[in-house]
Amino acid sequence: MNIELKTAAAYIRVSTDDQTELSPDSQIKLIRQFAKQHGYIVPKEFIFRDDGLSGKFADKRPGFIQMIANAKQDPPPFSAVLLWKFSRFARNQEESIFYKSIIRKKGIEVLSVSEPIIEGPFGSLIERIIEWTDEYYCIRLSGEVKRGMTEKVERGGAVSIPSFGYDIIDKKYVINEDQAPLVKKIFSDFLNGKGIIPIAKEFNAMGIKTNRGGRWENRTIEYILRNPVYIGKIRWNPKRRTRRNYDDPDIMIVDGIHEPLIDTATFEQTQALLADIKKKYRPYTHNEVKREYMLHGLVKCSSCGASLGIIGNRSNPALQCVKYTHGKCGTSHYVNLKKINSIVIDGIAIAFESMNYDLIVKHDESTAPEIDTESLIAKDQLKLRRVKEAYEDGVYTLAEYKESKEQIEEHIKALSRVREQRQNDIEDIKANFVEKNKNAIATLRDPSVDESIKGELLRSFVDHIVFFNNTGEVRIYFFE
Ligand SMILES: [Zn+2]
Repeated sequence: MNIELKTAAAYIRVSTDDQTELSPDSQIKLIRQFAKQHGYIVPKEFIFRDDGLSGKFADKRPGFIQMIANAKQDPPPFSAVLLWKFSRFARNQEESIFYKSIIRKKGIEVLSVSEPIIEGPFGSLIERIIEWTDEYYCIRLSGEVKRGMTEKVERGGAVSIPSFGYDIIDKKYVINEDQAPLVKKIFSDFLNGKGIIPIAKEFNAMGIKTNRGGRWENRTIEYILRNPVYIGKIRWNPKRRTRRNYDDPDIMIVDGIHEPLIDTATFEQTQALLADIKKKYRPYTHNEVKREYMLHGLVKCSSCGASLGIIGNRSNPALQCVKYTHGKCGTSHYVNLKKINSIVIDGIAIAFESMNYDLIVKHDESTAPEIDTESLIAKDQLKLRRVKEAYEDGVYTLAEYKESKEQIEEHIKALSRVREQRQNDIEDIKANFVEKNKNAIATLRDPSVDESIKGELLRSFVDHIVFFNNTGEVRIYFFE
């Protein structure tokens, strides 16, 4: 008896054009025998049948559809589908490939109990042919659509709605005489030092709309400044939609057949200036920013998870959810900076005192991944129910039932021991952690210590802090 008892589904279908047809009950009987020999349990609720169908319902196969729907669950409730014959799975090869590829993606095998699994090199060769065919089948349709577009791009044709400054006439880019001077103005204003936002504001003030009918924003202006269509080229990504990811390696830029609006030198100067600006204003990373307050970037909004940023003036600084400031989070998380500083420091002191705190233990990648004892125990408990069912259904003898029950229970005990050991380990780690970091509290409270030094210190053991606006409390997540 195998301890790794797996769950399988059975699919039963009666074929009217098979001379050697077995009754549904006989099919179930053979499937059950096979399951027993190969360590599978077939619970009653996973026996799907399409027998006794006639007339217009013969096409529908409700049992089959239900089986596929179950297989698509995450995680799937069974690891194999058992059939009397492969021909019962689907009615033609196309259907078979289609559904097999769906359930194979979930790691589910399709096994016939009367046709042998082919072992050895030929078996794996056939496997690979099947997989290759599956894949071919799935990508064929979308591939044909993309191939058509790629060819069009390679011929220099227009594949999307026109860029501002052009119309598409007879599938070709033709200069729009009203918009062309505006495109030239964007490039020359930008190179003359006008900012992207002022350019957008001016266009909106003049009542000009984008080609999608919208208002101008910094990103729509930037999109124009970066679009090689204006030097007579076509940019297109055959793999994915990348409207504003200008660095995607799959982007194709090919010569178009349309008239440029901008000369190449101007375009290149523009790209260089854009790169300069990006460098100057790129978001600060952890190491290079000089933080003028110790909680910089550490405190998160309890509603949306965004960081709280500093607002207010020098004499009365406060933190607020950055998304709230931009109208994208519904709940204000305003808190006076001095106040939250002391809430955080007190919070750390209380956490260390009580030893009741959240510690994120970051594993180094060389160690084995931790096993999830909780879910393994839950799985074993399910197995216990399954073997009981198998015994009640007469698939297992009493002796077999007892044996597998004992094995599973033994396994649960072993897992529980692992869980307990880990609990003890965590207590030890937490105690060490407090010992190592408790001196930080005095430094954080010392008014003569620079805020940036306090910030560095805090970041050496605090991962992040969540501020709850409704209670005014914080939750501190430490890391080891
Ligand atoms: Zn928020």
